[in-house]
This record gives sequence, structure tokens and C-alpha cells, in this order.
Amino acid sequence: MKGSRVVAVGVLLAALIVVLAFAGTAAAKKPRTADTVFKNGYVYTVNPGQRTAKAVAVRAGKIQYVGSNRGVRAFIGRKTEVVDLKGKMLMPSFADGHAHPSAAVSFLYAANLYDAEAATTAEYKVVLADFIAANPTLEAYQGSGWSEAAYPGIGPLKADLEGLTTKPMSLWSDGHHSLWVNQAALDLAGIDNTTADPIGGVIERVPGSVATDPPYGTPSGCLRESATDMMMAVFPDFTVEQYKEGILFYQQAIANPVGITLSQDAVQFPGSNSVKAYEELAQAGELTVRIRGSLQLMPNMGDVAPQVDAIVAEKALHKTTLYKTVAAKFFADGVIEGHTGYLLEPYADALAFKGDADFRGVPIWQPTAFNAAVMKADKAGMQIHVHAIGDAAVSESLDAIAYAEAVNGKRNHRPMITHLQLVDGNDFARFKNLGVTALPQPYWFLMDDYYHYLQVPFLGQERADDEYPMKSFFDQGVHVASGSDFPVTPDPNALVAMQIGVMRWYPESSMGGTIPPGDILWPEERVTIQQMIRSFTIEGAYANLLEKTTGSIKVGKSADMVVLARNIIKCDADEIGEGNAVLLTMFRGKTVFEADR
Ligand SMILES: [Zn+2]
Repeated sequence: MKGSRVVAVGVLLAALIVVLAFAGTAAAKKPRTADTVFKNGYVYTVNPGQRTAKAVAVRAGKIQYVGSNRGVRAFIGRKTEVVDLKGKMLMPSFADGHAHPSAAVSFLYAANLYDAEAATTAEYKVVLADFIAANPTLEAYQGSGWSEAAYPGIGPLKADLEGLTTKPMSLWSDGHHSLWVNQAALDLAGIDNTTADPIGGVIERVPGSVATDPPYGTPSGCLRESATDMMMAVFPDFTVEQYKEGILFYQQAIANPVGITLSQDAVQFPGSNSVKAYEELAQAGELTVRIRGSLQLMPNMGDVAPQVDAIVAEKALHKTTLYKTVAAKFFADGVIEGHTGYLLEPYADALAFKGDADFRGVPIWQPTAFNAAVMKADKAGMQIHVHAIGDAAVSESLDAIAYAEAVNGKRNHRPMITHLQLVDGNDFARFKNLGVTALPQPYWFLMDDYYHYLQVPFLGQERADDEYPMKSFFDQGVHVASGSDFPVTPDPNALVAMQIGVMRWYPESSMGGTIPPGDILWPEERVTIQQMIRSFTIEGAYANLLEKTTGSIKVGKSADMVVLARNIIKCDADEIGEGNAVLLTMFRGKTVFEADR
């Protein structure tokens, strides 16, 4: 707008003229030129004040202008890179609200059972034998990805690992809640028939040997929930260098190619090699994904105060924008597929599985200890991040957060509860009232192998058909962010998750199985593409206290954006997640991924 034209409006608008004259002066002075300009695009900003635009200018890592093709011209200089989007969609890049990026080290330095030809013991042994042959010098063998669905009951057996190696071997399930271990690993951890199940954990035993008094029964080779902590506390960890390679691999091969530039590492420990690896990469400016870490508190270590002190001390060590450890992580329960998810009503197969018709699963914490631990972490200034799968676990997590609020007062700590497989109808409003972010994994909203082989038999038809709510949270006005739980979802493509959120259907599942059209899990919980986009952008930023920095395309924010091959607002729902539509990923103004096509 030109000042001279404004003057003609007249004296009655004197105050307005002053304002506009200033605007005129600013426009007259040519703005500093942009590093990059995108024009001729369908810019979906996720900024309610300016929903769409055609052009964006980026300078020094930040968004400098959002508007028209005409308006952006003023920002183009001799050195500006001008990208003609030719109508393509430009939007904020994606936030993965709950994942385990550092676990990508397993893809490089552990046996990858996700890649087995089939989910059978024979095929897993082929992968393990190859890995051992290729890595003869490792002092112990780790792996991950065996299918929980393939081993209902007591899980896989140590006997099946005999003959592969005499070194300790420890293999995570695809859900990362159970470990398949050999005898050498059990010996290393000192777990035998004199070892009782820890609080919140299960040591599976050879059938027929189980007893409530010592000897409790011979360990059969599968450890669940907090029993895995007994193993991981002594099992040789990956080195800092190996973690750094794993994190770089995550960024370059997994996250940036699908447009992820913010991720939560949901299980970290003070002083661990993975925390050191992130900090070194952050200091060197090598992170192309912003990482926010959650430091786990454990129920089996007596008074929780020293653990809270340790996570607070760890938090103080991380000061860059690229890596911070702001949250305390709690496990309220396990997983349905391990019969460790904590339910309000008994498991459908409780009698057959446990010999106890009232069996409702395994709470990791006793309620009073849980309340006290959440309250102390909150008081110490930590954000609260809770894993809760079963409806009883969700309720007790909300109870603990409510208790913390009652004692400490309301704070802006953004507590979040993730997974949310079963949620009691009365609890949706409590998320809103307590300011708790709901953080589901839309990748799992499918009638897949998990649904057919683990959820229907364990939960019964009715509960299995009412799992993974989404719309109920939006309807209550709850903050909803989405996550992949990578590597549980090994390919965290947010566009696939967006399609699933909209349709509650996708032709195939990362948890196994192909899904016929028409098999729609809880259709009433379908949400809009706009809601799914929010959950993967601004709400992911909000959940990580970063909504002023990233998550929408707005002047002054970090230039964290993606260019897509298709317009996911306008295309058919079954095309949203097709292939990988990400053509370009920009993080802090730099291109960190570009598709060759
Ligand atoms: Zn997780």
C-alpha cells in the first residue's frame, strides 16, 4: 500500500493514516532478499489467520514472507533460489509426537528381524545366523522385530536360540515390550528359577514348572515389561559412536525422506550413551530433526526422589534448540498382545491364559507410588509423558496428573498420554479439563493381524471393535498430536497415518496383514484430513512446547516445510498415503531431503 493514496482519504481517519503511513514507509524500503522463494504453490499454512497462500520467502532459516506471487517478488534478489512449485502443495513438515529415533541403531548394529522372510522361528534363525556370521567380533548380540502376533502365550523360547551363539543374545519384539533371550543372557542377568517376577513385569516360565513360591519355575526365554529392565541394565549397550550413526541413519534414511523434522525420543536414561550421542550431534549442528527426549522413571528403585533429581540434572545439560530432554516418562502398563495392558474389565481369555477369570493385566506402578512420582516430577518442572494402553491405565494416568495438579497447582507443563488403545467414555472430558494432550498412533487404527490374532481373542469382539478412539478427543476439544512409535512402526510415513485417521482403513498394515476394503475399524472415529494435519504439525509442536518455533508456516517461525507431489486436502482419501508423496523436506531453511524424480 502506498502512503500517498492513503493521504487522500481525509483528516477524519488521521489515526488510521498514521498506521498506514508507517506501513507505506516499510514497503518503500526494499526488504532484505530471501535465500529461497517458493512461488505458484498451494501453500497450506496451518495458521488460522492465513489459511492458504501462494508463495513463501525464507531467509536465515526462518520464514520471512507468506502471501501472493506478486508480494513475494520484493524478496527475490540475485542470489535467491526461486522454486516454481507449479501448483504443488507446500505445508509445514511433520512432527512425530512419540517415537524412538535412537533405536535406529538396531538397524545398523543389531539383527533386524523385521526383515525376516516370514514371522517364524525358522526364518528368524536364518536372519540371526547371517547377522552373527557378519559380526563375529561383537561381545553380545542384540536384535529386534520378532512378531508378538506369531507367539501368543508364553512367547518364543530360549531353546530355539541354542546353537546360534554362546554369547548373550537379546531380541526385542516388534512392540518393544518383550525380550526373547538365550540362556547366556539369562546367566548374565542372573535370572533363574529363584528370581521372582518384578513389580510390573513377567518372566515367562517353562509350562508345568510355574509356582507361586520359590522355585518359581524355569525361565523359558521371554521377558516382559519391567523384567526387560533387569536384562537391559546389564546387557552391553551400544557405544556413543554407534548411537550417533544410528541417529544419522534415522534422519537421512527414515525421517527426512517422509518429511519428519521434529521427533520425540520417548525412552531415555540420564547419562546413557544415546543421550550423549544426541548432545554431541546437536553441538555439532548435525541434527536435521529436532529431538525432544523423555527420561524414564522406574517403579522398582525405591524412593523416586533420587531418580527425579537425576532427570532434572540431565535436563540441565541440554541447551541447544536441536535437543532437549524436557519430559519424565512413565509406563502405566504394558501391551494387550503381552496380556500386560491394564484393563478395567478382565481379559476375554483371562481364565485360559492366567487361570484367573478376573485377570485384568499388569499395572507397572501401584497407584499411590504413581501419583507421588508424577507429582514430584511435575513439581521439579518436568513435562509428564505417560504410556497407557488399557482403559484402566489411562484412567490411573489421568488420576496421577490430577493429583499432581491438586498438589502443585495448574502449570503449563503439557502432560501427554500416548497409545490410548482403550479409553473409558468418561475419560475424554478429563483430558480436556486437565489439559492433557492425547497422543495416539493412527498407523495402528486397522483391522490387521494384531486385531484378528491378538486383540479380538484377548479383548473380545466388542472391545476390539471400540479401540483407538480419535474423533472423541477432537470432539471434546482436546489437544491431539500423532506419533508412530517408530521402530514399532518401522516406516513412519505421516501421510499414511493421515489416510488411516481419515478412513480407518489402509490396504496393508505395518503390524502385518492386508486389509480388504470395507474392513473399517470403528468408523465413527474417522476424522477430517485437516484434523490429521494439525495432529502431525502444530499439535506435535504444541505437545513439545515448540508451537512458537515450528508447526505452521508463519512469518518468524523456523522454515520447516515439505513439498508434496499431491494435494492431500483435495485428493481422494485413499490417495493421501499412496507411495511417498514427499518431494522436498526443508529444515531451518535448508533442504534436508529431495526426491529424485
Ligand atoms: Zn513408545
